[in-house]
This record gives sequence, C-alpha cells and structure tokens, in this order.
Amino acid sequence: MTTFSPTPKKCDICAHPFRKFPGILMYDAVVYGRWGCLCHECFTRFNCKLGIGRGQKYEWKSHGGFVLIEGGSQ
Ligand SMILES: [Zn+2]
Repeated sequence: MTTFSPTPKKCDICAHPFRKFPGILMYDAVVYGRWGCLCHECFTRFNCKLGIGRGQKYEWKSHGGFVLIEGGSQ
C-alpha cells in the first residue's frame, strides 16, 4: 500500500482544501509540465491522465492517509 506523504493540505491549482474523509480523491499529476497535488475538479478540467510519469490517483482511507488506488506501478 502506497500512502502519499506528507499529506497535501490543498489543491496546488485552485487551493481547494482536501477534506480528510473516506472517499475523497487526490491526484498527483503533471499540469503545465510540473507535478502537483490536484483535486478531482482540476484533474478533470486540465484533462490530466493517469499512468506512470503522468498521474496517480489517491483516495483518503479511514486509517488516515491518501492511498494510491490507480495510475501507479502494480
Ligand atoms: Zn483544484
């Protein structure tokens, strides 16, 4: 299980705070050629992609952390 650390506080693009609630999504993805922590809305708006070198999708789990669920190595 891969947990994103340290836990990002807000979206790097729109500054929307990430709620620490099960099911909340967070993306570590490339926007304008740079990596950033994105909310679901920004990930969609900037047409980001999942995959190695492009983006990873994380979901907040009740144990307390954003866990990698898609886009990373198996
Ligand atoms: Zn955002």
